[in-house]
Amino acid sequence: MTTEFSKTHCMVCAREGGFEGGICDLCKAKIRGEALEGQHQLKKEADKSLHKEGLVIEKKSHG
Ligand SMILES: [Zn+2]
Repeated sequence: MTTEFSKTHCMVCAREGGFEGGICDLCKAKIRGEALEGQHQLKKEADKSLHKEGLVIEKKSHG
């Protein structure tokens, strides 16, 4: 009796079925999402773009 659990089941949620890499699409997406979130957290907004104030042109009407 051989037990091939990780071969036909998702190694993350143990879902039944043949999955590529041993992980079902749901868990793959979840893992990818978490990875993306981690990248977003690393994102820093230290560099602030210079805000140019709108030039106010005063035109004096001659008259
Ligand atoms: Zn899974």
